[in-house]
Amino acid sequence: MINYRQDRKGKKCVIWTRVSTQYQEENGGSLDYQKTLCEKYVEREGLTIADVGENHGYFGGKHESAKTPGKMIKQMISIVKKDSSIRYVIVSEFDRFSRSNGQAITILEELRSLGVIAKSAKTGFDTSTKEGFMMVRNSLNVAEWDNDNRADKFYSGRQHCYECGAYIGVLPKGYYREGKSLNSVCYLNEEGQLIGKAFKLKILGYSNGEILDALKVRGLDITKQTLNHYFNNPFYAGKIRSKMLENGMVDGKIEKAVSWEDWLEVQRIMSNRSGKYKQKKKKEQFPLTHHVACADCGTRFTAYSVKSKGKDYYKCNKIGCKNNVSAPEMHCKYKQLLYAYDLPMSLLLQYENIIRDMFRKHTQESTNQVTMLKKHLTEVENDLKKCIMKHSTDKIDDEEYMISSTELKRSKADIEAELEKYALDLSNLDDKINQVLVTCSKLGSLWDDGDLETKRQIQELVFPNGILWDREIRNYRTTNRNAIFDLLDRFSVSYGNKKETPSEEDVSTCAG
Ligand SMILES: [Zn+2]
Repeated sequence: MINYRQDRKGKKCVIWTRVSTQYQEENGGSLDYQKTLCEKYVEREGLTIADVGENHGYFGGKHESAKTPGKMIKQMISIVKKDSSIRYVIVSEFDRFSRSNGQAITILEELRSLGVIAKSAKTGFDTSTKEGFMMVRNSLNVAEWDNDNRADKFYSGRQHCYECGAYIGVLPKGYYREGKSLNSVCYLNEEGQLIGKAFKLKILGYSNGEILDALKVRGLDITKQTLNHYFNNPFYAGKIRSKMLENGMVDGKIEKAVSWEDWLEVQRIMSNRSGKYKQKKKKEQFPLTHHVACADCGTRFTAYSVKSKGKDYYKCNKIGCKNNVSAPEMHCKYKQLLYAYDLPMSLLLQYENIIRDMFRKHTQESTNQVTMLKKHLTEVENDLKKCIMKHSTDKIDDEEYMISSTELKRSKADIEAELEKYALDLSNLDDKINQVLVTCSKLGSLWDDGDLETKRQIQELVFPNGILWDREIRNYRTTNRNAIFDLLDRFSVSYGNKKETPSEEDVSTCAG
């Protein structure tokens, strides 16, 4: 219970100000405005500001919005508590004490029980009497109601605008606005036109790096993240996206940088990264595709499945030849072929130097090849750059660009694929030799257990030019293999009978 007859004497006061949000600050509730209001009141009432605290009688400041009383209000109360000559706390309005009504009233009660009276400079209400305090409580309640109401009005006003296609929020890059609230219409500026160009280039197959270059040439220098951010924003396709909308999105009164269809196409292109992987996965069951060729006609084998029988096959596609082999049989026999090269590590290490020499010789040839390929690659890349530059400065049209860039990109990919083949030979020779030694000692099981990538690598290593399937003998012809395996054969001959070779029985299990 507050004893209203007990209050402090004198004319000393302190001033309290607070803004809770930027919104309030922009709507006439600025700290300066509050301060001026309080100072005028102090002058009018003939009070004096007590010279206490860091700011000589002024307390509070900005953005003290937490629900619990912040540091600043605690500081003020503790100073007022200690200095009994301070009789008043002047505030513009009572809701400045706290965002929460309950909190504000608690603070006012705490002050009042110390004998300190709070006064509102705006309304003149104070907490000196029981009736006065009741008025303060009422005004706080009214303020709260008003605030809620205003927030509600603000929300529904915005929602209504969005539903009508009028965008009144913060504009994305590349737009300016004409008209206000319901009459808002958004138009593209020069930057917006360029962003539209970026969408177009993406559809034409430009990489993000190339798009950034093209934009830079035209004076728009942005990061990859920003570009992706633009691509993801449907505002550029004229859509307003908001939680306030029933369907989340609506056609806005917005000039489009890109059509809705094209925007969707860009989303599709951007999400396509996972697609490649799926395709790879699907072909995992056919590691020998293109590696094995038909001994009769020389055509490389392709693969197919007969779903009704649940069986997989390889075949040459040559009309009139139609070499057709069950996939399990071909896999099984390939595995056995590789098992035939399995040699014990101890034996391989004895011949390590010979192997090293062979690798060096092989490597020298590869080095020459790589030099030539790299030179060619640089030429193609330069041509591609020129082509992009011409297109981005409008010297060639879209069609011309598409034709030449597609051609150049294809050559580039071909050369890169060719270079990749040599990577195995050239990077870290010693590591590679050790790896090969280890690999050679267990080729069959490595191939059998390995994923598609491993299988392909082993195939490439043992039979760099592929291998022929002979219909007559229902098996592989082992000509054409990597010279290193001729050498291994010699080892195995000297190694003699100790080497395990697949038995007739094993071979017969392969019959498909
Ligand atoms: Zn054939």
